[in-house]
Amino acid sequence: MANGFYDFSGQLESLKQQGLYRSRRIVDGPQGILLQVDDRSVVNFCSNDYLGLANHPDVVTAFRKAADRYGVGSGSAHLICGHSSAHHGLEEELAAFTGRERALLFSTGYMANLGVISALLGRNDTVLEDRLNHASLLDGGLLSRARFQRYRHGDNVDLAQRLAECTEKALIVSDGVFSMDGDLADVPALAALAKSHQAGLLIDDAHGFGVLGNSGGGIVEHYGLSQNDVPMLLGTLGKAFGTFGAFVVGSSDLIEYLIQKARSYVFTTALPAAVAEATRASLRLLQGETWRREMLQALVARFRHGAEQLELQLMDSFTAIQPIIVGDSQRALDTSAALLEQGFWVSAIRPPTVPAGTARLRVTLSAAHEPHHVDALLEALLKVMK
Ligand SMILES: *Cc1c(COP(=O)(O)O)cnc(C)c1O
Repeated sequence: MANGFYDFSGQLESLKQQGLYRSRRIVDGPQGILLQVDDRSVVNFCSNDYLGLANHPDVVTAFRKAADRYGVGSGSAHLICGHSSAHHGLEEELAAFTGRERALLFSTGYMANLGVISALLGRNDTVLEDRLNHASLLDGGLLSRARFQRYRHGDNVDLAQRLAECTEKALIVSDGVFSMDGDLADVPALAALAKSHQAGLLIDDAHGFGVLGNSGGGIVEHYGLSQNDVPMLLGTLGKAFGTFGAFVVGSSDLIEYLIQKARSYVFTTALPAAVAEATRASLRLLQGETWRREMLQALVARFRHGAEQLELQLMDSFTAIQPIIVGDSQRALDTSAALLEQGFWVSAIRPPTVPAGTARLRVTLSAAHEPHHVDALLEALLKVMK
């Protein structure tokens, strides 16, 4: 008799019927504004390579040179023999870039969030999360076994009431730039609440680094906040940095504590050193080439202006993330498919990634786009959304 454990067909069919089935498209070639998919070239409006660094020649050259020097595999975890001078140099540069005492590299942002939150909290503590936080922050909270609370999106009154009820340690956790909406957390208010309630504060600025702040320092630079205001700050390297991995910055003691206690740091293989060297190159570009941020801002303004004229439903965002709310999951999928027909790749984002009834097209802009790409996308949107 067939083993029923392995019978997934009912669940797969049900996902299809709800318009929630997910599938992958195969890309041939590097990331960039034009992507090769199914033997044709489409304009990319869905990647997180906000500054166009993923295939930058300096970054690729740094990677190649480092592969010659360090090989490919890092051989072990950082605490065994996998922590190279490339990793160490990058950590020092990230600490300097963010104006924090020290930085710690993680292999992915997902792992960083699991590791940090579960290292900081235990059973009787409370984790308070914005309702729209990234899945990795929510999962980190669940893994920590702390009391798990989600406050209404951006609602400081709701958060303050919940904080007032905490008796043991409490940690406030929020995206900096919200990944599916593109809006900003009110980090100054979160910092003030954390201080007045003696709570911890962790900001995950995966989508702010490189995009916000004059030197790309992200949401804390945008608001002018120091390590004293935001003692624990996390960034990912797979978005505006254009490479791979993640980092946490904060006090020396925080970093030492995480080296001892963050299980997703201790029990995993270090990133390849060549990825660290490539990231050092991308950090120089991200900081120094302010024209990339200026270009991105100009494109965002152009897109929003055009989309408003088409009466599309935008969100309150001035970042690279510019969602268009569609509502129904199937309609989001169909619209995304119709755009692909027209040569534009815009992803449909559906529950559970976003709340039910708020399926959307998540348009992302990049400094590597040109104004005519944006204009052409707007024309295609007019055609398919009528
Ligand atoms: C992408 C993302 C992550 C995960 O980072 P990876 O390096 O891709 O694992 C974590 N947090 C936020 C807010 C993100 O957008």
